[in-house]
Amino acid sequence: MTPPIPDPVSVRRRLLRWYDRNARDLPWRYKKGDPPDPYRVWLSEIMLQQTTVAAVKGYFDDFTTRWPAVGDLAKAELNDVLHAWQGLGYYARARNLHKCAQAIAGERAGRFPDTEPELKALPGIGDYTAAAIAAIAFDRRATPVDANIERVTARLFALGDTLPKGRKKISERASLLTPKNRPGDFAQALMDLGAGVCTPKAPDCSACPLTPECLAAGQGEAERYPVKVAKAARPVRYGMVFWAVQGDGRVLLRQRPEKGLLGGMTEFPSTDWRKQIWSSAEAAKQAPVKGRWRRLDGVVRHTFTHFHLELTVLTAEVAIKREPEGALWSKPSGFSDHALPTVMKKIADHASRNVPGYSS
Ligand code: SF4
Repeated sequence: MTPPIPDPVSVRRRLLRWYDRNARDLPWRYKKGDPPDPYRVWLSEIMLQQTTVAAVKGYFDDFTTRWPAVGDLAKAELNDVLHAWQGLGYYARARNLHKCAQAIAGERAGRFPDTEPELKALPGIGDYTAAAIAAIAFDRRATPVDANIERVTARLFALGDTLPKGRKKISERASLLTPKNRPGDFAQALMDLGAGVCTPKAPDCSACPLTPECLAAGQGEAERYPVKVAKAARPVRYGMVFWAVQGDGRVLLRQRPEKGLLGGMTEFPSTDWRKQIWSSAEAAKQAPVKGRWRRLDGVVRHTFTHFHLELTVLTAEVAIKREPEGALWSKPSGFSDHALPTVMKKIADHASRNVPGYSS
């Protein structure tokens, strides 16, 4: 009987041979012969969610220099972890990272569990991350499916079901391919192939070790897969930010609530972020302190996963009689001591260029 196309045995052999010669040199990868370090695998997988290898490398080096083992990260102050995470976005992940480190250092005496169900019971570890850690750190036969693996698998099997519905079938097919031997290397090989050869646009099928097995390449239609539904346009939300300055140059900051977007990060107080544009008079009613608020020219734009945000800045020199709840005061030269997310750094930058008499 002729083997099915793609033949899992042939795909594994071809891909692992290719990986042995072409694996990317990444800071979290172990060298041949060294045992993988689950802490480094876990940290890199959490950091890599929703972002790129290039964006993560510097953060990974910084974290592993400051906190070389999971016990060191567990002992760190949450604020220091959030601070070090600044710019990576999705701050709930940094909070869960810290919680997870504490769970492992405390309840598990510093040892990561090695099965998917046990890994999934830890804070911030979902299906994908559990499978990636089980496969890469412990060589368990597990099948992580990230965007690269999803694309390569959909093409290999020419799976035309529209995503996100078609994801179940892609995972099932990916699982068929996963070998018993070297499942961690196999997963990383698929990731590398997707990142460098089977790219979203213009995949290089002529340089791909899987061409003889690939149904999409056989059809000459690689780019058609995976089939995605057109994304809805992101809505725009509007807010006004209060840049309240005391006579000595200190600016008002506060901490965001622990739960929700940018949870626990530091911010300049603002109105709600809503669908309608604010008038200055309407916004002033939500001001954290009394003041003669004046609107700065220009807007600050930032894009989150689900919406675009447009912020206008109101500024006032204030004399404080009653401290607003949760207030923090800092001169601009001290902002770097606080966990300000990127959108708030943009506000600080805008104010530095536009607030009259600004001093750092
Ligand atoms: S042959 Fe082409 S479409 Fe198929 S896996 Fe390789 S690069 Fe992707």
